[in-house]
Amino acid sequence: MKGTDIVVKGLSKSYNSVNGEESLEVLDDIHLHIKQGEFISILGPSGCGKSTLLNILAGFESGDNGVATCCKEKIEGVSTQRAVVFQSPVLFPWLSVRKNVMFGLKQKKMDDGVRQKIVDKYLKAVGISKFENYYPGQLSGGMQQRVALARVLVLDPNILLMDEPFAALDAQSRLSMQELLLNLWQKHKPTVIFVTHDVEEALFLSDKIFIMSKRPGRIKEEIEVTFRRPRNISIIGTPEFSE
Ligand code: ADP
Ligand code: MG
Repeated sequence: MKGTDIVVKGLSKSYNSVNGEESLEVLDDIHLHIKQGEFISILGPSGCGKSTLLNILAGFESGDNGVATCCKEKIEGVSTQRAVVFQSPVLFPWLSVRKNVMFGLKQKKMDDGVRQKIVDKYLKAVGISKFENYYPGQLSGGMQQRVALARVLVLDPNILLMDEPFAALDAQSRLSMQELLLNLWQKHKPTVIFVTHDVEEALFLSDKIFIMSKRPGRIKEEIEVTFRRPRNISIIGTPEFSE
């Protein structure tokens, strides 16, 4: 894991409007330098271009001007080095939790025993070992998001791009997922770029917060979080698991 800095210089992006009138300037002159292993949040109001920026960093889309690089190479197309977690967990409903987590590993050449061990490790890390034979439809949103997280973590990505991954969860599950993510990050230290519109969440999780403004989307402010804001509540157990 070396040299995975992400550097964005002068990035802009517009979308053509649906009825062919004025184009919509979504990102304007974005500059970012994200160091390997940092936990970054991108915070901003709905519609300011957070997802567009994240999608460009993921390689799903490209900018109009400027450049986004990862490890000094231009980001073009997707890479297994960069894993993406969306607001709605993307899971195969017809596969069990275990098979969902196993999915990406199937492409990798490795001994089946090793593969099973990796899956066991991450099922445990996200707290869903007991549910490995369940199907996604049988699980709560919070648990499905745990599966989605395990699914990308088995691939050992250097960079985790997360687009409001906990926004759809109830308050309690959101807090326990934030704790889980922070613990995992502290252990493995991937670079995390976490999009959110929740200030508390950004303050709890990140080393640095980029605040975006709307129309056009610009980085308005960059805040170093000198100490992670402690919780004023404690989470006892994980209620979503009680049946
Ligand atoms: P955020 O994630 O901050 O809510 P988005 O990046 O999703 O913002 O969207 C920024 C703006 O770009 C919004 O006004 C949205 O409607 C528009 N937009 C996003 N994707 C497209 C697209 N594929 N085509 C046209 N407009 C889009
Ligand atoms: Mg969005």
